[in-house]
Amino acid sequence: MKQCIAQIPLPADEVYEIQKNHLVSGNGSKRICIVSGTHGDELEGQYVCFRLQELLRQYQDKWQGTVDIYPCLNPLGMDSITRGVPMFDLDMNRIFPGDPKGSMVEYIASCIMDDLTGADLVIDIHASNIYLREIPQIRINELQQDVLVPMGKWLNMDYIWVHSASTVLESTLAYSLNERHTPTLVVEMGVGMRITKAYGDQLCQGILNAMVQLGMMESMSLPVKKPIISTDGQVHFLNAVCAGLFLPNVRHDHRVLKGEVIGRIVHPLEGQVRHEVVSPCSGLLFTLREYPIVSEGSLMGRILECEG
Ligand SMILES: [Zn+2]
Repeated sequence: MKQCIAQIPLPADEVYEIQKNHLVSGNGSKRICIVSGTHGDELEGQYVCFRLQELLRQYQDKWQGTVDIYPCLNPLGMDSITRGVPMFDLDMNRIFPGDPKGSMVEYIASCIMDDLTGADLVIDIHASNIYLREIPQIRINELQQDVLVPMGKWLNMDYIWVHSASTVLESTLAYSLNERHTPTLVVEMGVGMRITKAYGDQLCQGILNAMVQLGMMESMSLPVKKPIISTDGQVHFLNAVCAGLFLPNVRHDHRVLKGEVIGRIVHPLEGQVRHEVVSPCSGLLFTLREYPIVSEGSLMGRILECEG
């Protein structure tokens, strides 16, 4: 059943409205929430919201409880292919927990928080941006790792990145919900403005497995990957030392060796290679630049140092 969780009039007769699909089966009291579209240019979660509902219909008599699906928390952004909230020039994931008496977007954020609070698990799906491609991964604040890492392992992702507390943004949806003791996992996968169907299918299997683990679904044999966890090694950032055109040499999600050439920064006018990008360590290349133009300092990749 479609439900409106926040509504506010826009200046020219239109309405800013956040909707969810509220699915209930049997008598179970558990609730899982699938959230996406905080950033209007990230579409990977749109496919997951669609595909998961197909699967839930297929397994209709095998699950119970509540599944709430919120495909689009920033509808104005999605309609206009804009990452932030248009008109406000605002990253929506920097205003949580919001304020019921605040500006329009703060009010909307507070309604979203109220609706999600108390769920047994919230999965907030992001898709990087148009510049970087990510393997299917979960990002967790180290302060919340004891609760979230075991749940993160349910989701069939390749990688769990536990961030140090100093880099954590306190105004995100996930941080604010976890502060309210509503366990929230942030998924990052794929690339902005595109859909990587295989990643979406992988996450849907993980969500079904999470429902099994929460006791919402009958046990079934689901292939669930054992993720690599970043606490096992250091993350290295590859930043461009000069401007130019970045041409990768390796495949994303590839394991690279120390000294291996990851790519080249070339100069189209001169026809010259300006810089060879060499891996500082052996490990998993979990982020790779998708957008070819780089300036000095641009991120080209991230590698988790690990053996094997
Ligand atoms: Zn995002």
